[in-house]
Amino acid sequence: MTRVTPSQKPPRDAAAPALSIVAPCFNEAMGVKEFHRRVSAAASGFGAYEMILVDDGSSDSTWAEISALCTNDPHVRGLRLSRNFGHQAALTAGLKAARGARTIMIDADLPDPPELLTAMMAEMDAGADVVFGRRKQRLGETAFKRISAAAFYRVVNRLAEVRIPVDTGDFRLVSRQVLDALLRMPERHRFVRGMVAWLGFRQVGVEYVRDPRYAGVTNYTLGRMVKFSMDAITGFSTVPLQFAHIVANVALIVGLGVFGYIAYSIVAGTAVPGWASILAFTALFASAQMFILGVMGEYLGRMYMETKRRPLYFVAETLNSDLKEG
Ligand code: UDP
Ligand code: MG
Repeated sequence: MTRVTPSQKPPRDAAAPALSIVAPCFNEAMGVKEFHRRVSAAASGFGAYEMILVDDGSSDSTWAEISALCTNDPHVRGLRLSRNFGHQAALTAGLKAARGARTIMIDADLPDPPELLTAMMAEMDAGADVVFGRRKQRLGETAFKRISAAAFYRVVNRLAEVRIPVDTGDFRLVSRQVLDALLRMPERHRFVRGMVAWLGFRQVGVEYVRDPRYAGVTNYTLGRMVKFSMDAITGFSTVPLQFAHIVANVALIVGLGVFGYIAYSIVAGTAVPGWASILAFTALFASAQMFILGVMGEYLGRMYMETKRRPLYFVAETLNSDLKEG
């Protein structure tokens, strides 16, 4: 095991492996050993490989587990981020470190079978540049998760200018050319599967059944999202820009209520001419303006974050690796 601190940076390893495996790990201490076992078995048939495990600021002993794996297996490279930057940023950190001719992105909690690698490699041998796993069925996930995931992909595909294959995650095998292209996209609000779809090249899918997570619990709970937004408000966020949405919805409901009242008072013959229609239209148009302001706020907020040009993440420590910068 070679330990690298920021002050000593050895030269880059000249011999690139055939395959890089990249897995972001957030509080995966219970599962990372099993992940290593299954992935090592699946990868061993394809020549030289490296397994990049990114600890995304875990609060459990994930980093200790990764360190132990790095000591015992030179294939494993460990990256520890300076704090929790989120799934997509951690994935990006790992992708940037990848040196392989081909790279597979896979979740550390083993919902996607590493054994599918054989079929994915075969598709790439046959000429594909991107091979994504498509979930035929999800085991061990709540109805809420299944329904929200299905709705999510359908809404995104309706609004976005790219077609993201339905029911896929970030479980993907990409060629060096595609990975280099992906890494040239510098945006902060990263949605890696959409970005890969946007790239083009020859993309094919391989179907599989999604397993329940091996150990631990999902990191994408409703509570986490709520906490996230509170942190964002108290920190330095653009959320207040979006309050216009709430105001718009309230105004819309009030406006519709007034409309109902007008209709009622006309039918009942109690309408005072003039005032009600003015009030209703004022409320309705005010809500429309607020809605448009809210949409502009969403975009403005994202532009604000982009103009800061902050690195996506910071690497605090690396093992068996020469990469340190963000
Ligand atoms: N993950 C991460 N940082 C986070 C949240 C998640 O690196 O802040 C990793 C996690 O360890 C896992 C993958 O991203 O390898 C997917 O997360 P999870 O399994 O919690 O999400 P789900 O599969 O439930 O959508
Ligand atoms: Mg998972």
